[in-house]
Amino acid sequence: MLLASRDGLVEWVDRTLEPRLAGWRGASLSDLWPDLHGQLEGLHPSLEHGPLDLHLPPPAALTTGEETLSLRLFLTDTGLGVAVRGQNAISEGDRPLVELLTTLLNTVEDALLVTLAEPLDLPGPLIVYANQTLLRQSGYRLDELLGRTPRLFQGPQTDPEVTRRFGRELRRWGRPSMEVLNYTREGQPYWNELKVAPLADGAGWFTHWVSVQRDVSERRAGEQSLAQQVLSDPLTGLPNRRGLIDRLERALSHETQDLALIFCDLDRFKEVNDRYGHAAGDALLLELTNRLQTVLRSQDTLARLGGDEFVVLVEQLHADEDALTLAERLRASLAEPWHYGDEELTLSMSMGVALGGGRGGGRGGVNAEELLRRADLTMYQVKAAGRNGVAVYTVAMDQQVQQSVSMRQQLEQALRHSRFLLHYQPMVNLESGAVVGAEALVRLQDGDGQLVQPDAFIPVAERTGLIVPMERWVLAEALDVLAGWQRQGQPWHLAINVSPQHLERGHLAEELLAEQARTGVDLAGLTVEITETVLLQAHARAHHNLTALRAAGVSIALDDFGTGYSSLAWLSQLPIDQVKIDQSYIRQMDQDPRCATLVRGFVRVFQELGLRVVAEGIETVAQRQALLDLGCVTGQGYLFGRPSPLHGPLWASLAMPG
Ligand code: C2E
Ligand code: MG
Ligand code: MG
Repeated sequence: MLLASRDGLVEWVDRTLEPRLAGWRGASLSDLWPDLHGQLEGLHPSLEHGPLDLHLPPPAALTTGEETLSLRLFLTDTGLGVAVRGQNAISEGDRPLVELLTTLLNTVEDALLVTLAEPLDLPGPLIVYANQTLLRQSGYRLDELLGRTPRLFQGPQTDPEVTRRFGRELRRWGRPSMEVLNYTREGQPYWNELKVAPLADGAGWFTHWVSVQRDVSERRAGEQSLAQQVLSDPLTGLPNRRGLIDRLERALSHETQDLALIFCDLDRFKEVNDRYGHAAGDALLLELTNRLQTVLRSQDTLARLGGDEFVVLVEQLHADEDALTLAERLRASLAEPWHYGDEELTLSMSMGVALGGGRGGGRGGVNAEELLRRADLTMYQVKAAGRNGVAVYTVAMDQQVQQSVSMRQQLEQALRHSRFLLHYQPMVNLESGAVVGAEALVRLQDGDGQLVQPDAFIPVAERTGLIVPMERWVLAEALDVLAGWQRQGQPWHLAINVSPQHLERGHLAEELLAEQARTGVDLAGLTVEITETVLLQAHARAHHNLTALRAAGVSIALDDFGTGYSSLAWLSQLPIDQVKIDQSYIRQMDQDPRCATLVRGFVRVFQELGLRVVAEGIETVAQRQALLDLGCVTGQGYLFGRPSPLHGPLWASLAMPG
């Protein structure tokens, strides 16, 4: 066998011809066979239709003792091939055996392909045999395959990495196998599992490769749909968490691109499910999927992690702002109300953005799971800050979370080692300045004995539920103090603050009655301060607790009035006795006449409703006077005394008789 370039220059000779023809490399075929002189060009068109058999006298270099030599000329992938029929042509006696073997090879179900052993470099080992199964599978005729190389079966989706690995194995004369995407003559792809082994001649030289092949497209399709199932969400068909991580990891492996994750979570989706049922919830999620998808570009991926949690993977991000712009567009897609039957509802979404990927220096090295965690955390922060918004992850957020984790531990320790204490702020009659009572305000003593103010730990205590045991301690402590005052004939009343959680989930009324039994206190001296959120949510348990408290003689005060949704009309329906006007109004009253007008209105309405009024945060004599002019007679503030321990100088002076 000889291989030549397209214009007939000898490039390669096989092992059997090598000893005699090695020196002809680089020479022209027509120098070997002068009969071919000037003919090669003209042969090309007919070679396109298949090999050409020629009978020519042997060249001087190849004396065989015969008159003529059979040559077969064919096209290869890169030029021309010339097979020289050697002496070991099949003898007449062998013919029946050869026919038997041919029939046998054509009846096996596996596809068989035989190539020469060499060359492994371009054009590659030439095909010398293919059985019927292979021809059926590939759609080629035998004469179209002979002289070509198996490269012919590869196509646009064939994985070059797989074939390269295969080639490396061949070079080691190994027995490689691979599963590769092949293409039929018509360009139809099919999955081919093939195993290859070298064949040696009597002298031990490898002469051929035999490849046994099987079409495994069906199995692959099954596996793929299985993989699809594992990686996608059944309701929406979107990638699920694993599918997202898969794509994200792939995207992160392209180190040159910046990307972003946008974590989206519907606000109050649970209410939709609870109120309209799960079928409505599902319908809404499908519609949401549609709306989000219309906003996305083709290179973005929308995934659903479960429930109402969706994540958008934004690839090829040009500028960080683009991620925010996209997030805003996603959010805007919810603006249109949803229709379910006759119902119409408008929903909002909280979103967290985390930036990652190659270019930006600081963001590199963040893996898929971490990026998702950051986006999730950021979304959660948006929720905690009042929902319906977008934020971008910052390291500070993690610090904040860490702080709240360590605050939680501090709270647990404080509960275990009774490290809470109460400060008491006097409440006074604004006219006379006489003390009429006190508000108990909780403090936490940290490990170093430093006092921590409630703003720093109450929110964490509320989130973690630790507020309930903490307030149980406050209750016991405060009632001890109140009982002590009552025993001394001190008519002061005492106010404590109670969180919505305690009212909604706890057993405040029962706890209070138990404390009363323990201390013998008269509960008429106690005021419980609550915030509006309790009343807004119309929680049955909270109302039960409030009603039971009032029945036991406890006064209920609405704290921080004016900071929430306060509606005056609505006040009349609430189970309260007292309203505390928030200090923000008192502070502004001096400067802003409209604020004074508002406070005047409040005071008048409260009085008409029979509610007592307390002004918070009085710091100046002018404020005290202004409040008196408006008809408000009770107040508290730094002007009269800061929250202080009972055994400190403030209360020592106040408790002095006279
Ligand atoms: P609050 O119930 O509205 O308590 C009044 C807050 O205003 C107190 O802050 C008090 O120190 C401050 N204050 C009083 N007079 C003035 C003044 O003239 N000027 C200024 N600038 N501030 C004044 P504190 O002690 O830091 O408590 C903050 C909040 O923590 C309380 O607001 C209350 O909502 C909450 N809190 C305190 N103890 C408890 C508790 O046992 N349970 C619950 N759930 N919340 C508590
Ligand atoms: Mg209060
Ligand atoms: Mg207040």
